[in-house]
Amino acid sequence: MGQILSILSLSSLTMTIFRPIKPNLITQLFGENKVSFYKELNMNGHNGVDFYAPMGTPVYWNGSKRGKVLSVINDATYGKYIEIIVEEEPEINKYIFAHLSKFNCQAGDVLESGQLFCYTGNTGKYTTGPHLHFGMKKVAKNRYGNYYTTNRDNGYKGAIDPMSYYKNIYVKDHIAILNAQIPIFERVIGFVKALISLRIQLNIKRKKK
Ligand SMILES: [Zn+2]
Repeated sequence: MGQILSILSLSSLTMTIFRPIKPNLITQLFGENKVSFYKELNMNGHNGVDFYAPMGTPVYWNGSKRGKVLSVINDATYGKYIEIIVEEEPEINKYIFAHLSKFNCQAGDVLESGQLFCYTGNTGKYTTGPHLHFGMKKVAKNRYGNYYTTNRDNGYKGAIDPMSYYKNIYVKDHIAILNAQIPIFERVIGFVKALISLRIQLNIKRKKK
């Protein structure tokens, strides 16, 4: 099952980002500047997307590809936050989930699409209420194998707008749809296998002649 799921997700080359939580309300988009503290942080505006989320809302890995937990951090600005790496040939992206209340993973864990890995909260210096901050940065690897953010002086400390990769479908619903499609997928595979064996049989017959 897991194998078929990963084949399905591998079949799309670019990563799709789904909604990581059930509540469906974005309260602040990338680049918006509803509050002035971004200047204090040397940024032109909001460096991610904020989702409204009551305290303790489960957060599921929302990428169509597997993600590797790079770090689980407690920081003054972001509060409790998690960084996830996806090596999407030829580029590498880092995804950030911030202001969390609880971690459900540790550095090095590999997350499957739809896997529960943390809970929303209201931690960090600048939050005005419980929400989930979701960010995305392009990174590269140095010669020691460590990741560093590229384009750090873009006005958002290297963060980019994730919305061009975003589909507003709750990731758990997306997985349910995929699971429902698997019987059809298996039937197609069965048909292809039958065709291949038929061709092999025909070739054997031809050679015998
Ligand atoms: Zn935010």
